[in-house]
Amino acid sequence: MKYISTRGGGEPQEFCDILLGGLAPDGGLYLPESYPQVAAQLDEWRGLSYAELAFRILSLFITDIPAADLKAICDKTYTAQTYRWSRDPAKARDIVPLTSMEPGFHLLELSNGPTLAFKDMAMQLLGNLFEYVLDQRGETINILGATSGDTGSAAEYAMRGKRNVRVFMLSPDGRMSAFQRAQMYSLQDANIFNIAVRGMFDDAQDIVKAVSNDAAFKAKYKIGAVNSINWARVMAQVVYYFKGYFEATKSSDQEVAFCVPSGNFGNICAGHVARMMGLPIARLVLATNENNVLDEFFRTGVYRPRTTAETQVTSSPSMDISKASNFERFIFDLVGRDPVVVRQLWREVDAGGSFSVADGPFAARLPVYGFVSGCSTHADRLATIRDVWAWYGLMIDTHTADGIKVAREQRVAQLPMIVLETAQAVKFGETIREALGRDPVRPAGFDGIENLPQRVEVVDAAVDQVKGIIVRHC
Ligand SMILES: *Cc1c(COP(=O)(O)O)cnc(C)c1O
Repeated sequence: MKYISTRGGGEPQEFCDILLGGLAPDGGLYLPESYPQVAAQLDEWRGLSYAELAFRILSLFITDIPAADLKAICDKTYTAQTYRWSRDPAKARDIVPLTSMEPGFHLLELSNGPTLAFKDMAMQLLGNLFEYVLDQRGETINILGATSGDTGSAAEYAMRGKRNVRVFMLSPDGRMSAFQRAQMYSLQDANIFNIAVRGMFDDAQDIVKAVSNDAAFKAKYKIGAVNSINWARVMAQVVYYFKGYFEATKSSDQEVAFCVPSGNFGNICAGHVARMMGLPIARLVLATNENNVLDEFFRTGVYRPRTTAETQVTSSPSMDISKASNFERFIFDLVGRDPVVVRQLWREVDAGGSFSVADGPFAARLPVYGFVSGCSTHADRLATIRDVWAWYGLMIDTHTADGIKVAREQRVAQLPMIVLETAQAVKFGETIREALGRDPVRPAGFDGIENLPQRVEVVDAAVDQVKGIIVRHC
């Protein structure tokens, strides 16, 4: 399998050559040249363990790692030990257990990994793939990132202790929840460096961009990234759509709907890929919070990224986005994989504008992909958390609440609905207390993590201070 850029530049690349990079050199995103067709294999795959299923699916996308090595990487990544924080510990072996709220209305638990958010599902694989490829090539990498919470901790737990990898993770000083700070800053691994920036998330993000744009520094210090546009993350997420489908159906001619709490369009992009491969997904329900850029697109055909000033801080903070960095992948498919059209549309977007597909040649194609959407507010979130607790005895986090709110509006008779659970409630304790008047359920292994010693360097929002830390440790 070879990979091409959504903007059409460069020669097709092998998987291992795009693994360590971010954007394609022409500014586009990588996608496989074609989607493998697997409808005929579904019966055979039903009943496979998660690791085995991951191996079958990833083998179709990764053709430059020997099968035995890829199998070993999948077996090592998807273990019941790593994904052990399930509501029902007896189900940990499923890796992504399915919990039914009602007949035909399910929750797929994706947040049972080390940082209690779905980003572990892909990031843990990335950690093992990075280690493997760097070993093979005798290279090292220094991962530089900025986080407002879930991404940074998932990256650190995936890369901790890995050979030839260091992680420099910037976070806004004092702006994450105490639980999220404790998760990241209590790591004592010698290859993990936490840097708290006096400022907001955007200041941290700007520093990362400035360092990455310094080509000489980037090359000398082998700076890399693990952000959500990395193809390997999308690919890893494809697997749990298959697993969830098998858990929720009895035969492979049944159709289902998935509802996905969405921010950067990474998670639901994997659902789109699964559907393009032939998984019978009738509907992909996209849920946003108050930052409804994507809901607006699927209702009106207009994609209008917001300015930072227009972006609201909400109680489902991992979905607080101004533009959806993976969205270009879907548009590439929508416009018939024509990079000329993508370049034209993103000329508008990159200049701070918007585009519409509402009355052009692509309007008729849009419904073909099965997307519907909705949005949720803080009040909806509180009501949904209360209601799901009262009716089903399930405690859900704020992002999953956005998903359930929209899933209920978009349910269709006879079509099983699978809502993706993207984090555990304990990560967002403040809103849980507001909704339920009690502390969130905390998995046993996380008792008292706020009291562990923390390792973090606090710096001003200055590029040179961050570069200095990198130089000092490399
Ligand atoms: C990252 C994240 C999301 C959004 O996922 P995207 O892939 O950006 O759409 C939703 N919920 C939680 C808890 C997250 O951490």
